[in-house]
Amino acid sequence: MDEIERLSEAIRFRTVAGNWEEFSKLKDFLERCFPMVHSKLKVSKINEYALLYEWDVGSQEAVLLLAHTDVVPASEEGWVHHPFSGDVADGFVWGRGTLDDKSSVMGLLEAVERLLSEGFEPRHNLLLAFGFDEETKGYLGAKKIAEHLQNRKIRIRAILDEGSAIVKGVISKIGKPIALIGIAEKGYASFDLVAKGKGGHSSTPERNTPLERMANAIQRIFRYRSRTVLTRSTEEFLKTLSRLWGFPLNVLLKNPKLTLPLLEPAFSKIPSLNAMLRTTMCVTMINAGVADNVVPEKVVATVNCRIIPGETAEQVFERLKQIVEDLQIEVVKNENWQVSDPVPDTDPNDEFYRILSETIQQTFLDVVVSPYLTVGATDSRHYKSLCQNIYRFSPLIMDRELLETVHGKNERVSVESYKKMCDFYTALMKKL
Ligand SMILES: [Zn+2]
Repeated sequence: MDEIERLSEAIRFRTVAGNWEEFSKLKDFLERCFPMVHSKLKVSKINEYALLYEWDVGSQEAVLLLAHTDVVPASEEGWVHHPFSGDVADGFVWGRGTLDDKSSVMGLLEAVERLLSEGFEPRHNLLLAFGFDEETKGYLGAKKIAEHLQNRKIRIRAILDEGSAIVKGVISKIGKPIALIGIAEKGYASFDLVAKGKGGHSSTPERNTPLERMANAIQRIFRYRSRTVLTRSTEEFLKTLSRLWGFPLNVLLKNPKLTLPLLEPAFSKIPSLNAMLRTTMCVTMINAGVADNVVPEKVVATVNCRIIPGETAEQVFERLKQIVEDLQIEVVKNENWQVSDPVPDTDPNDEFYRILSETIQQTFLDVVVSPYLTVGATDSRHYKSLCQNIYRFSPLIMDRELLETVHGKNERVSVESYKKMCDFYTALMKKL
């Protein structure tokens, strides 16, 4: 078996949260694939399905490399190859998890196995930690591994997780691939809006029903623009763009702190840029009504907020209450309220950032490397009390089409791209 066949096989395990026996089977498979890893490293199961691999070389500090074995569900419809086939065809390995995130799981293990067979030893202890519920927030996997490491007082020098990649042809007018290293992460919180009132018969409707008030509130939330916050990550990202873009943006973005007020209206219209500049609020669920002729007495809508570093979930809670204040709507913390405050910027001048950047250049050649604000939530946030030096980067080149396959249909990784991923992790570990 080579690395492509091993990845293909790993995709066949339907490791969707809840299918727990598939996780056990995947673990057994990993044992068969990577005999040296399993004989030379200490391997522990945490909370049954999370995996921790410890490559102890006797150093004071460890570098922690994260990935997750779970995937989001996939229905067969619209896929060229079955989502759990792991088919290798047309130069790609197809299936759920080929980009997010089994390729990282397998790539990291491939790298360790290679290095062990070469007799190589890293400078730092290396820890590989694989959660199993990242897609459902990571409280069973990553959170428990973090607690385990905390209890053992293991000192972590730096953390690498998924959370951004090398994008190509995604940012307008830039042909060169850009490797985005997430040096900060937005926070996550959901709130429920609750409107209550008199029900009744819809043949004689009254005004100001809970539903009408809720409709009003939802509109306000969608129109609301939180204040802009220019994080270090976004400032550096815009500066990188200024070097790649022509006149006049190259001049305008040279000093984003100064010119942001000027650019903000245009940037706010681009969802990806808008998300990098402010806390966003998005109504994602609504629940009301039992029959077409009954006015509902209660309406509940859920607002998912992504919080910019510099603000907190509590502040967003207060803001939401203000937005709907006069509408007789109550704002409550979502039933399974699992807040995570934003993770602030790490220093892009840190040695670990330099190592990452060098390894990217060395593996992918003609790429620009830039700091970046990760707008989604990653497992790494559960480790923030262990180490502030967190980076989010997957060594995969993604164009617009491939990006859409993550959590979508026809997720696939090119054979060439995956081989580079394995090379990247190997080269990186040699520097750690
Ligand atoms: Zn993921």
